[in-house]
Amino acid sequence: MAPSYPEIQLLIDGQWRSRAGEMPIVNPSDESVLGHVPQATQSDLDDALAAAERGLRVWRATAPAKRQEILTRATAIARERIEEIAVAMTLEQGKPIAQSRLEVLRACEIIDWDATEGRRAYGRVIPSEAGMRFTVIREPIGVVAGFSPWNFPVSSPARKIGGALASGCSIILKASEETPAGALLLARCFQDAGLPPGVLNLVYGRPSEISDYLIPNPIVRLVTFTGSVPVGKRLSELAGRHMKPVIMELGGHAPVIVCDDVDPIAAAKASVIGKSRNSGQVCVSPTRFFVHERIYDQFVDEFGRGAAALSVGNGLDPANALGALANFRRIEAMDALIADAVDKGARLVAGGARIGNQGYFYPMTVLADVPDSARAMQEEPFGPLALVSRVSTLDEAITKANSLPYGLAAYAFTNIASNIEALSTRIECGNLAVNHFTASFAETPFGGVKDSGYGREGGTEGLDCYTVAKLVSVKTA
Ligand code: NAD
Repeated sequence: MAPSYPEIQLLIDGQWRSRAGEMPIVNPSDESVLGHVPQATQSDLDDALAAAERGLRVWRATAPAKRQEILTRATAIARERIEEIAVAMTLEQGKPIAQSRLEVLRACEIIDWDATEGRRAYGRVIPSEAGMRFTVIREPIGVVAGFSPWNFPVSSPARKIGGALASGCSIILKASEETPAGALLLARCFQDAGLPPGVLNLVYGRPSEISDYLIPNPIVRLVTFTGSVPVGKRLSELAGRHMKPVIMELGGHAPVIVCDDVDPIAAAKASVIGKSRNSGQVCVSPTRFFVHERIYDQFVDEFGRGAAALSVGNGLDPANALGALANFRRIEAMDALIADAVDKGARLVAGGARIGNQGYFYPMTVLADVPDSARAMQEEPFGPLALVSRVSTLDEAITKANSLPYGLAAYAFTNIASNIEALSTRIECGNLAVNHFTASFAETPFGGVKDSGYGREGGTEGLDCYTVAKLVSVKTA
């Protein structure tokens, strides 16, 4: 039996709406068409705005404990449907099925954590002179417009839905048109868990038309976007013109500093796994490896060996460690960046060319001795490309790590306390991971500095972005 893929619909005011759409949803593993994305009309968007405004009134007045109950019921349903959601995600995005399953579980963890923490949106009583009382109340910010990308069809929507709903906000989510089923199947779980109408609305369409319509609308009070730097800057400008705060989770170009006190073989093995996740189509993907010259050759050899051993193929086959890239744009980007780097003197250690000509398959590619002038050292490859360069000192590595306008995740391998101290204080990033490759957890803040964005998702810092502090000062005498 062919694996099933849902009909994509809009969710507005608790009702599913079918709409015609020309945009095909392409299975990147065989380039077949899975369906078409419905396009919201302006009147759909007006309905979504009105519904979200009504939903906000109901939801912010709902007891935090009740909100938590509904959210955790939704995640219980999602866990029951893990196979259906994971298969749809692999069909539309290409990632290996095991990673799709993990993404569903991770999305549930994020929502569960937010739901619990949402009950602790404590205010403060600030000491004051006699006869005066200062109370700070944290209130939901209001209706949120969320925009999620194609690389994490379930966990990126989960970040935005979890943060908004746990804080008492309602949301209109425009999920990715290229990978729309993840958000749709997640939204169904909320519907089936008894979420009141209008609290979560889901739309698709032409991205710029939707963002240009929703962001300026006075009903929308917060914009949250995950995607590329250029689009993030555009949406931030628009939001700024209308005085709306934003959470921007944009691109990265994560450095990995490998110091000479660690086992290069173990660090290379971990790097293969870290880089293989979602074929490098991850904003926190480890990309620029700055390796101490004393262990450089061993590291490169093992990295190349490990990369070449990864099986690439249809993500539905559990034997494959790398699935198809999500779209043809990634193939073009990989080809161009690799050709340019090799042209400028980089050494090809593994991979280097598309596999076959049907389906967007690309092997993990390792380039060594990559000069700083290579385009790939500055532009986010967003694909299975690892760039390894030799460094002589930690200082040199940190300087190179900080040399780009990006500052999202950074990684390091060392067990020397003074190295960890130098890295912790000097690396310009939002998330530094030492001796492992997990950049974020449900309970920790995630986000960037510099062009990688601002605001945080996850942790108490993430939830704070969905609330505003209101001071009530009362003269009591
Ligand atoms: P792109 O710049 O065309 O689009 C990036 C994302 O923004 C897509 O999800 C797209 O649907 C959305 N988008 C585009 N215009 C929009 C608009 N006006 N309003 C709302 N959403 C809009 O790039 P792409 O080819 O889809 O992706 C490649 C690049 O995007 C990568 O190099 C990477 O830097 C970045 N990206 C980052 C993340 C992330 O997790 N931070 C996710 C996906 C893509």
